[in-house]
Amino acid sequence: MNNHAARRYLLAVAAIAAIGLGLVVLGPHLRIGTEGSPAPKRGIVTITFDDAGLSQYDVGLRVARAEGVVGTLFVPTGLVTDANEPSWVMSWDQIRDFRDAGWEIGAHGAHHLPMTQLGPTTMESELTDPIDDIGAQIGVPPVSFSSPFGDFNDTTITRIMAYYDYQLSWKGHGGRNPIPDIDPRYIGRLEVIPAMSSAEVCGEMVRAAETGTWLVLLFHTIVAGEPVAYEVSEAVYTEVVTCLGLLTRRGVVENMTVRDAMALITAQERMPTQ
Ligand SMILES: [Zn+2]
Repeated sequence: MNNHAARRYLLAVAAIAAIGLGLVVLGPHLRIGTEGSPAPKRGIVTITFDDAGLSQYDVGLRVARAEGVVGTLFVPTGLVTDANEPSWVMSWDQIRDFRDAGWEIGAHGAHHLPMTQLGPTTMESELTDPIDDIGAQIGVPPVSFSSPFGDFNDTTITRIMAYYDYQLSWKGHGGRNPIPDIDPRYIGRLEVIPAMSSAEVCGEMVRAAETGTWLVLLFHTIVAGEPVAYEVSEAVYTEVVTCLGLLTRRGVVENMTVRDAMALITAQERMPTQ
């Protein structure tokens, strides 16, 4: 599909979703509802950025803000330098712009190390340094932790959960997290990879609404040209965020940070059943 056709397809998907989720098949990967299906529940969609790379600021925040979309930014705090030093990581000023736009600032270790390879002392500082730094720089201590490289085991999870409320990797439910049965230790994310079209991702959001699940998307670097691994094209990213903005404004899904989504889900779990 060329770009123009992809865009038309995406808008058609979003429009039909917004009209009412009552319909059948839009494409090979998009099956929204079937005849006689019960009224749809509302899904939640969260976007997350790992690494706090500059493209996530230059493109990611600009586009998200234009659509009124929020998410969670995971920062490897020990790699944040002074604004004057050249770096591929954002400055604290730029990270504060995310906070001011309604984003949650989470931790991605201090130095982006694979947690399962660390001795106990380094593991502790990789977990506690971000709490100190984000608390001091942002004013809101982090409650969400994204394991660098998606690398975790039982030992690292135990240590992470001693300091944080939520752990994310890109394993677990393919990023389509069940409500209310989500385990805060293993929140999964669907990474938007170069092989995915914006229409497919938009369709995933529609499915979250249809199934009443929590879709958590993961992005790394956003590039102007052809993306490779750990990259997404600016065009696809923009269309995904446009779709999310539209579905949110139409009340099809709720767009929330990890922290706010988990607070809502936990509150629902506590509600007495009738
Ligand atoms: Zn990372």
